[in-house]
Amino acid sequence: MGNEPDSLRLISGVGAKGPACFLLQAAGKRLLLDLGEGPPPGMLPDLDGIGPLDALILTHGHKDHVGGLSLLGEKLGQPPVYATTSVACALPMNLNVRPLPSGGDTDVLGIAVTTGRNGHAPGGVWLHFSVGGGFLYTGDWSAESILYAYDPPAKPAATALVDCSYGGYDKPIAACWIELKPFVERGPLLLPVPANGRGPEIALEIFRRGFTEIFVDEAMRDALGRFATTDRHSLRVGAAEDIARLTAAAKPIDAARPRGVMLAASADGSSGATARLLAQWQHTAEPAIVFTGYLTPGTPAERLVKSGRGQFVRWNVHPRLSDVVVLARAIKPQTVIPAFCDRAQLALLADKLAPVRVTMERTVGL
Ligand SMILES: [Zn+2]
Repeated sequence: MGNEPDSLRLISGVGAKGPACFLLQAAGKRLLLDLGEGPPPGMLPDLDGIGPLDALILTHGHKDHVGGLSLLGEKLGQPPVYATTSVACALPMNLNVRPLPSGGDTDVLGIAVTTGRNGHAPGGVWLHFSVGGGFLYTGDWSAESILYAYDPPAKPAATALVDCSYGGYDKPIAACWIELKPFVERGPLLLPVPANGRGPEIALEIFRRGFTEIFVDEAMRDALGRFATTDRHSLRVGAAEDIARLTAAAKPIDAARPRGVMLAASADGSSGATARLLAQWQHTAEPAIVFTGYLTPGTPAERLVKSGRGQFVRWNVHPRLSDVVVLARAIKPQTVIPAFCDRAQLALLADKLAPVRVTMERTVGL
């Protein structure tokens, strides 16, 4: 195996929205980068023929990056799983977890790895590997978050696998607030959100704008509480104090009395408090229901927006096109592989990143 050329195999997550899963073969090691499920519930990467791994490395704890852990074992062996403390806390107990720093230099089985905070989720990181001319995997990332700290990658990387979820979309997060604001002002409003992602961030934005009638479910309350402990290192400078005030001000949602702005998980309405609340409120005129993330096919989110009972207002948690261009200028890649967007975005991205080679080929040499 040590004689094989260094390469990156795009198992899933490139060419169409799907679970993140990539195989990095370098320095004689086989490292799997993320192992997700979804977004559509039950969608798993095809791991036939992948064989035993030397390690699994996780960028963050969202289901489309960690939801496929049940596939370890028979097909992939029981490799060590590298994850930051925040991400490791939510993983099953039976894994052989090894720590990954949320920022700085480390070593994974003899390969030098640099990480930095991804501005996207608690404990979330991007990964830079000192293999070939340098290889960067961003995982999901955002340069705009008011809550999650982002450490821009700076090390040169000849090859970069980059979250381009939004393709050519380029509106700033300030424009998201302008669209969301009328719903917040009008109230009552239900925002189905991921508690370990944009949920606390949107709550913080609303709170900072002076709206204090904020109601949260258990998942959101737990997530807010973790910013005082395990997830504190993921906060942007200046956010800790406001998050503490928000946590103290937020009240529990009363299903019998919709009021103010209510934030509850899950984001697509298929589970958690939102599944119960949507069942109760889908046929009533109030509250307004606004979804802010990817409308997963076959979920209540998609159904309610299609029927007109729900609205969609995007809240940026992935990079805009201009953020991707800034990243590419910093790391000077020869090859960029856009991840988590449709193949139809390839030509546009190639044009904007020229003269960089932009590819979605299944296997890329490093
Ligand atoms: Zn994510």
